Amino acid sequence: MNVKELPEEMLCRQQEYIRAVADLNTGKSPTAFVDTYGCQQNEADSEIIRGILMEMGYTQVFDENDADLIVINSCAVREHAEQRVLGNVGQLIHVKRKRNCLIAVCGCMVQQPQMAEKIKKSYPHVKLVFGVHALPRFPELLYRALTGEKRVFDIEKSDGYIAEGLPVLRKDKTKAWVSIMYGCNNFCTYCIVPYVRGRERSRDPKKVVAEVAALVREGCRDVTLLGQNVNSYGNDLDENVDFSSLLEMINDIPGDFRIRFMTSHPKDATPRLFDTMAKCEKVAKHIHLPFQSGSDRILSLMNRRYDSTKYRELVSYARSKMPDISVTSDVIVGFPGETDDDFEETMRLTRDIGFDGLFVFIYSKRSGTPAAEMEDPTPRSEKVARFQRLFDLQDSMTEEKSRKLLGAEVDVLVEAVQEEQNGYNLLARCESNRPVYVKGEPSLVGTFTKARITDSSKWGMYGELI
Ligand code: SAH
Ligand code: SF4
Repeated sequence: MNVKELPEEMLCRQQEYIRAVADLNTGKSPTAFVDTYGCQQNEADSEIIRGILMEMGYTQVFDENDADLIVINSCAVREHAEQRVLGNVGQLIHVKRKRNCLIAVCGCMVQQPQMAEKIKKSYPHVKLVFGVHALPRFPELLYRALTGEKRVFDIEKSDGYIAEGLPVLRKDKTKAWVSIMYGCNNFCTYCIVPYVRGRERSRDPKKVVAEVAALVREGCRDVTLLGQNVNSYGNDLDENVDFSSLLEMINDIPGDFRIRFMTSHPKDATPRLFDTMAKCEKVAKHIHLPFQSGSDRILSLMNRRYDSTKYRELVSYARSKMPDISVTSDVIVGFPGETDDDFEETMRLTRDIGFDGLFVFIYSKRSGTPAAEMEDPTPRSEKVARFQRLFDLQDSMTEEKSRKLLGAEVDVLVEAVQEEQNGYNLLARCESNRPVYVKGEPSLVGTFTKARITDSSKWGMYGELI
């Protein structure tokens, strides 16, 4: 099988560095704080960083002021995310003045050479910087930073490899992220992801299945399979396996658990995917299918390789197979050259589909992408007005959907104990992934049960356990 895995020797070497840092830490009980920005893939990467740190003898803390080591896992997808990262990294100078901590910045933002350079020049309190592709070398890089090297930077560019067998410290026992593939080949013209995360590479299906089976044995009840475009899973493997067949294999794992996945690209979503979802009883009837724009002209400028008709057909097909399927999406307003008419097409598609949830983003120029070179005459105030109209439209539609559910019985998984608000002490989630706040015994965490919806708000629904 042609899986692009890192060689065993390299990973063994990193194990030696883990032991070497653990030796340095002997008798010291050091603490570490890992902060994550951006998507679920970054969350999953941070769980690996925490796993490595735990093996090195660090204890996890949740306040940067208490940490001997601070790792900021950054995001590059929009300028706003980068500004937040830079703002917070800037603030850390005050923490460092009070406590002699080591500050590291990693992830997508610093994979861009100009951003790594910016940190080098303007943030001298940051000692360690490593990009997405250097994550498996984190033990070695940290060892170098701890043993006298002044500053350590590793943002080596790469199409990317897969590192199997790294330690993982998961946040949650009930829920888990499982990456099934990395990178992206789609080059949507607005998006930085393919430049920072490298080419698509799929994990060995046997390893994915083994990981999920182990999680389920340990009590996990909700597994989200991650990839930038899960529908192209397996395209790079010579074995005859695609995302639908992987779903079937995971569905066959014994145990009571839910399977989720994200994200699906409409150009690669097929009737076969929806047929598979319909017949696999463990697969949550929810699809996150970003449409990005309702205008065919803009979709083409975005290099999305589908049109609004195909998108509508996909959702209709999915609903014909699974009438209750929840459909959520992402959309960008204010793409370069988007006219009022283009935007009205986006409004129309949003109204027609009736999404269960929608993430609306204002276009953010990413340097190095083709869209950054396109004429963009629309003033920011106009983009903000479009954003608000679309946001309000979706808000009212979400509210109406929640109202319709009042009195209904829904299947939920109780996920966690939360800070009590009006007596609601448990966070549960229904199949569509929407939160349902309920009251009950903490021992219910990790169990599937039914709730009757009694109330709803913008943030979720409230219910009573049946
Ligand atoms: N791979 C996933 C999404 C990755 S980024 C997919 O293709 O669906 C998550 C979302 O961020 C995208 O769906 C898009 O709506 C938004 N996004 C990406 N680049 C952006 C940019 N330059 N400006 C604004 N939004 C962007
Ligand atoms: Fe970005 Fe498009 Fe790849 Fe998603 S599919 S990560 S939006 S390039």
